[in-house]
Formats: sequence, structure tokens, C-alpha cells
Amino acid sequence: MYKITKKDAIKTLHRCHILSLPIPIYSIEDIITDEGYIIVNCAGINYPCIFRNELIMPEYKTMSACRYGLAHELGHIIIHGRVKSGIDMPSKHEAVADAFALYFTMPPQIFEKDIKRMDEWELSDKYGVPIEQVLNRYKLCDECQYH
Ligand SMILES: [Zn+2]
Repeated sequence: MYKITKKDAIKTLHRCHILSLPIPIYSIEDIITDEGYIIVNCAGINYPCIFRNELIMPEYKTMSACRYGLAHELGHIIIHGRVKSGIDMPSKHEAVADAFALYFTMPPQIFEKDIKRMDEWELSDKYGVPIEQVLNRYKLCDECQYH
């Protein structure tokens, strides 16, 4: 499941020469901008949304939530291309964008080594994503021995 999405996430990381963890928020913003989108921050909304060439982002309470939110939207942009609106996105699209964000923020080879010696709190710290997303990332591991 999500094999192509996994490849897309790895390809994007390589193409953009992202080597540091947690992945810098500005690096994700740079990729989104390079794809032709303008990022607009809007305090009055609860969820990000893509409208024409604008990616409208809510105000996140934590850096982790912001990083994950941006990675998810990047997934839509890379995988689904120019979509009319973020509001009517089918749930399958959401699942794929989530898988992209999970692989992108927690890159496969490093993450799969780390889960053998770190718990979810340490992983959440290292990768700069919410615990909830570390737990979701576990589910995408080939040897699914951690739940
Ligand atoms: Zn989405």
C-alpha cells in the first residue's frame, strides 16, 4: 500500500537535497513555492486549503503541526497537481497526501532504523512531528511490529 507515494516522497527529498532533521519548515515552503504556489497565512481558518495558485495555511499552535500540515499539502501538490479546491478533496486523496507527509517527514531508511531504539516521544522530537503522526507512521512500516 502507498508504494508509489513512498517513492514520490523519497524522490522529492532527494531532488531537493533535504538532509537535516527535522525537515526545516522553510525547505518545505521553498518546494511549494517552486511548484508555483503562493503561501498565504490566514489566522481565521482551521484547515489549509488550496485555491488556484494559493496555498492558504491556518495558524498552527506548534512547529510540529505546521511542519506536518505543510508536508500534507505538498503531497497534494506533488501527487495531485493543480486541484480546483482543497475543500472537496475526496477522502482517498486525503489518505494519499497523509501517506506522503508521513514518508516525507519521517524518511523510510532512517526512520526504520530509529524505531528499533527510540520510543514515540523521542521520535516525535527528532522528526519534529506530532506523536499522533509518529503512531500513524508506524502503521506504514514493513515490519509492523510496533503498535
Ligand atoms: Zn488534504
